[in-house]
Amino acid sequence: MSVEQVSQVFDTILVLDFGSQYSHLITRRLREFNIYAEMLPCTQKIKDLSWKPTGVILSGGPYSVYAEDAPHVDPEVFNLDVPVLGICYGMQELAWLNGKAVARGEKREYGPSTLNVIDKECPLFKNVDHSTVWMSHGDKLVGLPNGFKVVATSDNSPYCGIAHESKQIYGLQFHPEVTHSAKGKDLLKNFAVDICKATQNWTMENFIDTEIKRIRTLVGPTAEVIGAVSGGVDSTVAAKLMTEAIGDRFHAIMVDNGVLRLNEAENVKKNLVAGLGINLTVVDASDEFLDKLKGVTDPEKKRKIIGNTFIHVFEREADKIKPKDGTEIEFLLQGTLYPDVIESISFKGPSQTIKTHHNVGGLLENMKLKLIEPLRELFKDEVRHLGELLGIPHDLVWRHPFPGPGIAIRVLGEVTREQVAIARKADYIYIEEIRKAGLYGQISQAFACLLPVKSVGVMGDQRTYDQVIALRAIETTDFMTADWFPFPHEFLKKVAARIVNEVDGVARVTYDITSKPPATVEWE
Ligand code: GLN
Repeated sequence: MSVEQVSQVFDTILVLDFGSQYSHLITRRLREFNIYAEMLPCTQKIKDLSWKPTGVILSGGPYSVYAEDAPHVDPEVFNLDVPVLGICYGMQELAWLNGKAVARGEKREYGPSTLNVIDKECPLFKNVDHSTVWMSHGDKLVGLPNGFKVVATSDNSPYCGIAHESKQIYGLQFHPEVTHSAKGKDLLKNFAVDICKATQNWTMENFIDTEIKRIRTLVGPTAEVIGAVSGGVDSTVAAKLMTEAIGDRFHAIMVDNGVLRLNEAENVKKNLVAGLGINLTVVDASDEFLDKLKGVTDPEKKRKIIGNTFIHVFEREADKIKPKDGTEIEFLLQGTLYPDVIESISFKGPSQTIKTHHNVGGLLENMKLKLIEPLRELFKDEVRHLGELLGIPHDLVWRHPFPGPGIAIRVLGEVTREQVAIARKADYIYIEEIRKAGLYGQISQAFACLLPVKSVGVMGDQRTYDQVIALRAIETTDFMTADWFPFPHEFLKKVAARIVNEVDGVARVTYDITSKPPATVEWE
């Protein structure tokens, strides 16, 4: 039996990406009103698709349609007999294909403009007249494409919205997918729901059923699966989903690398085994990791050592898990999310920078396992919602991210057991106070760092000469840019006092007030 793709089960809008920085937002917005959308490179050949889209959106892009090397859509898109919407470059592409009336504008138009709907009957513009729309273009239409009519204008764009006279093909000069376009989401909904007639059934409730069926078909009745869990939301949700699908034929492994948070291994065990019924083995490899980290101060070296040791330990443990019937483990679970997938499908060629923090990097090459990625269609907030539906505790679902190399990159300089113990304890107190103050949910990530500097203090009339803890807390939506969190002074006062009093070896506490950029979130 073949394994059904999500796009074969749910009505799917195909977003063809011409390289705009906003393309993924189109997918995002559609899913917000329960329509599944998938983004593929603009060079996608329609004959190679294993499913039929319910509608197609051509995204914006940095190129000029009239340039020699400009990307163009597969003309078969127009033979699918489904509605098509071109956004910015996408509209210019429609115009280029129908008369070539596109040219460089006298001036770039970037920013807000007001929409003026001419054709009040046009279903695309239902309830969006006079709203603010966001422009970002240098080229423009210099005439109507053959077979099209004007349906909306704006202050600067006589061809702000166009529609085909007889077919369901539409073009917009502005970007409805950005939140600055006040009614952009309504407009996308008009397209997907009213024009494409897509069913609004993309919910995590429905996804669970589809995905469990898909996993069962893919894995079959006997094969076994292994996967690493970290205690973070992605790996826990993936592991829970596997457990729901195949029970104890899924084997989760957690490697305690000695640089986890305080009591982390025990907590994960409690949550995953007792709470969620996941078949988990916790491996204490802390000595192995800490021995290898001896004398190492370079952050990149620390990361490499931890990554490689992880692979080594994981493979060794996986080897011990032999299915009862003597067969081999066949699959490796990875918690890859949609943003990682998007990053790797750019039509300019797979990105060099696919992040490795969500997956277990080099494992596949050595282990000859087939990959299983149940979250690869989902955005982070969808994963969280899924986690809640699967009964994963709220605190775990909303946990801040934690880097793979853990506290090793939060102990600046050499990583020793003593230094890890200090950083861990300070971090524990800090996070405990953040939770008590009810601030955890407002912060995107918070942690304590141990700085390898000594500073003079006085405690009980005695001179001390101890280290410094730096506290970091940031707010961000995408971790690409971030700002530091404005704690109330009283909060900082309390945390600083607790850390200096309760953690031996710390004489001073500072708060990091640098944004990203120029600083990164982590110190190393
Ligand atoms: N590059 C095209 C222009 O400048 C399209 C821009 C876009 O799609 N945002 O007009």
